[in-house]
Amino acid sequence: STTNDSLMARRQAAVAGGVGQIHPIFTARAENASVWDVEGREFIDFAGGIAVLNTGHLHPKVKAAVAAQLEDFSHTCFMVLGYESYIQVCEKLNQLVPGDFAKKTALFTSGSEAVENAVKVARAYTKRAGVIAFTSGYHGRTMAALALTGKVAPYSKGMGLMSANVFRAEFPCALHGVSDDDAMASIERIFKNDAEPSDIAAIILEPVQGEGGFYAASPAFMQRLRALCDREGIVLIADEVQTGAGRTGTFFAMEQMGVSADITTFAKSIAGGFPLSGITGKAEVMDAIGPGGLGGTYGGNPLACAAALAVLEVFEEEKLLERANAIGERIKSALNTMQVEHPQIADVRGLGAMIAIELMEDGKPAPQYCAQILAEARNRGLILLSCGTYGNVLRILVPLTVPDEQLGAGLGILKACFDAVLK
Ligand code: PMP
Repeated sequence: STTNDSLMARRQAAVAGGVGQIHPIFTARAENASVWDVEGREFIDFAGGIAVLNTGHLHPKVKAAVAAQLEDFSHTCFMVLGYESYIQVCEKLNQLVPGDFAKKTALFTSGSEAVENAVKVARAYTKRAGVIAFTSGYHGRTMAALALTGKVAPYSKGMGLMSANVFRAEFPCALHGVSDDDAMASIERIFKNDAEPSDIAAIILEPVQGEGGFYAASPAFMQRLRALCDREGIVLIADEVQTGAGRTGTFFAMEQMGVSADITTFAKSIAGGFPLSGITGKAEVMDAIGPGGLGGTYGGNPLACAAALAVLEVFEEEKLLERANAIGERIKSALNTMQVEHPQIADVRGLGAMIAIELMEDGKPAPQYCAQILAEARNRGLILLSCGTYGNVLRILVPLTVPDEQLGAGLGILKACFDAVLK
């Protein structure tokens, strides 16, 4: 019979080595916050397919919407023959993305593609080629997105130099000694040493760094960036691929920053497990590229658009923004209690339900515990993820639809793991 081990052996023989896999588990079925593997074992899913399942695995509404779409058509290519659901998704995003101005939207399939296209739009609008991105930022694995990603290993290791015209500023992170002032000074250094502001098309950042470790930019920092961009005619791009679709307790994290971006990227949880991404921005910025310059065969696929419209309905019907905040509070308070017994839990933080636990020992990052806790949790039936420049952050991306009892069970397993590993 099929086992995780037998599939792992076949995977190793057949799948390119560069495609990682965090847990040696193969999925047979999933529903809401539960996953069953090929051996029939149930796991509680605190990973959510990396921030894709804010509405859970196969939410009945999402499933029904996709099934209904499948009765009608699955593909025409929006650039060949249009369909209403693509327009509806754009109309909805134009309303949901923060910013008190007329907006337009374009749809794609992956987060990386959204990032690539945000940069294309900013370049066309400003007629400039430079982009400022941040240390430990993650923007994807396609070439231009990869150039923006601020971590070499494993993402661009062995692939040679990335494309030019990307300048790296420091992301503010008080916990690791980088203040907002330090971060602003690093941008001024770029202007002094590397490129004039008039050569910079865009500044791109995640309002809360995802892969980089769940560090939130402060509203004050975001306001300073906004002022700088206004002064220099630079397009501000908020990469909300991981923070968006309700994870942080507002539909977009930028709603908590007091200023808005010119272009916002979204993907992941927007379509509840179906591949959809996009960019929404100021209409005049978005229209800087002429017909044919944006798009893609599968961008805004009908099944994914149907899923996204259902996800947005579920958010309203089940009040998932409130739920994100409630879950986040509950998780943080449970973790704060665990922190009392385990000083290695150096920091518990998060906006809404985007929660991180940072492990340190003797004032230094302690990634060794992360790997052990991930394995221990899996053995006890809980799927967790780590992140962070130092690999010492555990992150929780549980579906917002998780039943209270199951959330409690997952937190109980986490506590048992801390007790076993941290001692
Ligand atoms: N931007 C951010 C902030 C992300 O978290 C990710 C994915 N982790 C991406 C871009 C890339 O998205 P994708 O993997 O869908 O290309």
